This record gives sequence, C-alpha cells and structure tokens, in this order.
Amino acid sequence: MGRREPGSGDAGRDGDGSADGWPNPWCSCASCDWARTAGELRTHTTALVEGVLLLDCGPDVPRAASRAGVSLGSVRRILLGHAHPDHTGPQSLLWRPWATTGTAPLEILGPPASVAACRAFLDDHPDDAVTLTEVHPGDVLDRDGYRLRAWEADHGGPAIRPSLLWDVESLAPETPDGTGTGRRLLYGSDTLPLPDERLPTGPYDLVLLEETYGDGPPFGDHLGLQTFAGTLAALRRTGAMPDGGRAVAVHLGHANPPGPELARRLALLGAELHPDGALLHLDGPAVHPDPEHPKRVLVTGGSRSGKSEEAERRLLGEPEAVYAATALELPDDAEWTARLAAHRDRRPAHWTTVTTGRLAPLLREPGPPVLVDDVGFWLTRGEESADEFVTAFRETARRTVVVTGEVGSGVVPSSAAGRRFRDELGLVNSRLAAEADEVWHCVAGIARQLK
Ligand SMILES: [Zn+2]
Ligand SMILES: [Zn+2]
Ligand SMILES: [Zn+2]
Repeated sequence: MGRREPGSGDAGRDGDGSADGWPNPWCSCASCDWARTAGELRTHTTALVEGVLLLDCGPDVPRAASRAGVSLGSVRRILLGHAHPDHTGPQSLLWRPWATTGTAPLEILGPPASVAACRAFLDDHPDDAVTLTEVHPGDVLDRDGYRLRAWEADHGGPAIRPSLLWDVESLAPETPDGTGTGRRLLYGSDTLPLPDERLPTGPYDLVLLEETYGDGPPFGDHLGLQTFAGTLAALRRTGAMPDGGRAVAVHLGHANPPGPELARRLALLGAELHPDGALLHLDGPAVHPDPEHPKRVLVTGGSRSGKSEEAERRLLGEPEAVYAATALELPDDAEWTARLAAHRDRRPAHWTTVTTGRLAPLLREPGPPVLVDDVGFWLTRGEESADEFVTAFRETARRTVVVTGEVGSGVVPSSAAGRRFRDELGLVNSRLAAEADEVWHCVAGIARQLK
C-alpha cells in the first residue's frame, strides 16, 4: 500500500470489525465458527487515508496494518472518533519512538475524552514528537492537503461525549483557493441513527458506515442491518450520497450473518463488504453499475417464510419507495388488524403506503420503486385481470418487487373455491416468474435464487 500523495484517490483500510472483533475470540456461535474456518478475521475498525491520516487507532490496528503489509511510518495525523477502547488505544504509541521514523511529528486529534486518554498515557510515557488537539463537533481544520470536518455522532455514555464522525475531503493541489474539488470520505463509526438535520451533508464519494449487529437485537449505540439501510436511505435522500457514491459496511460484529449472506444483504442496499485490510480506490467501479437492475423481482415462499422481509430488504436503502398493500382491511377482525399493523410498523416511516386491488395503473405511472405484498390478496379481491397485472409488470419502468405465496405444496383444499384459488395463484405466479429478472424462494427465513 505505502504512502500516496494527497488527491490520488486511494483510501486504504486496515480493519472493519466491532469492539470484540469478528469472530469474538470467546464465542463459538455459527457466525464466529464460520469466520474462524474461513479465515475471515475482522479487527478493530480503522481507515488509513493515502498513508497519511489514520482514522481511529484501537489496540488491534498496528498489528492489522502489519498483516496488511502496511507501515504506519508515514502517518502524520491520527483522527480519533471517541474514547471507547476499540477506537482510542494510546498504548500503541509506546513503540513508535523505537522506530527509525519515530521522531517525525505526529498530531492526534479527537474529542476531549479521547485526548484526555492519550494525555494520561503520555504523562507516563513522554514523547516530544506527539501533539494533542481537542476537536469539537462542527470544527473544520485543514491539514496535509485535507479539509477535516468533525460531525457529532450519537454514541457513548455521558463521560465520553461528544463522539465524532470524521469527514475527510482531499483538497486537490490544482485548487489553491481551497474550494475542495477532491474526493471526500465520511468515516461513520460509531453511531446510532441520526435525524436528518444532524446527518453529515457531504457530498461523499465514499461512506464507511458502521453496521454492528446485523439482524440481532439492538446492541450499544450502534446500527444493525435495518438502521444501516435507513441511514443510507437518508444520506441518499438528503443528497449527501449522490449517484455513484459508494457505501462500505464497517464495525462488523458476530450477530451478522456469515460473509456470503452478509455480502448479498449489503449488495441489496447498494453497499459493499470487504475483508480486513482491503485497499479501496475511489476511482474504482461502484458495485452497482446499473442501479436499475434487477428491475422486476418476484419473491415467493410459504407463510412465515420470511418472504415479505426479503422483499422489503431490496428497497430499504432507497431514498423513496411505495408499498402497495393488497390485503383488505377488516376493521371488525382484531387479529387481522394487528397483523397488518405489525407489517406496517416494520416498514420505514419515509415509505408511502397505498392500499389497492389494481396494480397495473400503479406500475404504469412513473415514480420510485414499488413493493407489492402480495399476489394472493390481490387475487382474492378480483378487481383486475391477471393479463392486466402481468402485462404491466412486464412493461413497467419502475423497479418492482412482488411478493407471492406458495400454496399447493401441502393439503389439497377441501372446497372448490379453495382449489380454484390454488390453481389460479399457481398460474399467475408462473406468468410473473417468466417476466421477472430475478425470482427468489424463501424457506425458514433463508432466501435462495431460483432465476
Ligand atoms: Zn466501536
Ligand atoms: Zn459469535
Ligand atoms: Zn464505541
């Protein structure tokens, strides 16, 4: 990796694990066992920008740099986000003066609690080469050809707040007025979801965003897959991540699904997963060369198979989406009303919901992506022919995800109406599958691609 001149457009990373790392060394869950077996070891989250700026320095970081084949000898600034020990590990400074480059000046910038932790260490281990600078939310500093902005994270107890998210903009050498036409990076770890008015504004070419606990229960002041998606959607909606802006998940913990499934889930959100030590070139290709593809997706499965969740995942990172609910509302049926409410509560607040039995007009009008849930309810309403719906699905200009049910793999319905419904749904499903760019099947919460 080595040193790169500011403005060369490269950002090297040395780690993207959570505080406990992934695998957690003490844990033998399936996710940790997978990580050990696959050799996918993730250490404390950090980023090394063009060899010069090191973002966060937990105790794992120097060794992870060595494992990635990187010397920290050219680092001139360490930017700390907060005083949790996986981000602020001043013990590593002990060995710097022993290096041949160890007398070069080093500035450590961070919020007051991080600076205090470093000062306490340096009081016992004095080092004339190191200077400490307190940074507060809203501060803007120019260093080494970069403009550094500190945004306030929502993270940590009162003793360590404020916590910071770092915004690093490369000031291209050809713009001496400092207008900053270079590349811009957001280092977004660690934080809870931020309200729109507190979101960093960018625009960013690359966002490293924490995604700590996957589908697990909320943990610490962190993001899981759902809130990671919501944060990406908000960054896109507010213009902080324009088209072509890349997102990479970092601060990954063992509540995440094993790597291949996590990579798939992140790709659905237009986000990337990389191993520890990966080198990211900002001029490289984005993961989604065509954000409109796949345009038409059919997701099928039995009841409680996870098919609705799988369909929703595909649109969670979108700045806007329309949810087309086809189920009839039955105000007299408390159990049914509770079911619909549970579905509604799971959906992001910024989605628009329409309740309809006529899907063709919706698919024919321009607009944001559409999620149809589901075909069985649409069929029972009988307000539109299968020809109308299937043709509109084929011809739609909108990204469309359709959820349908699998009936007929079990008991033969006892009534003629039940048997007719089963047959008609099977036929519509086959026609939709034929028109879809992708077809996915969910069983026991696991999604498999059929087409
Ligand atoms: Zn952390
Ligand atoms: Zn584990
Ligand atoms: Zn933390």
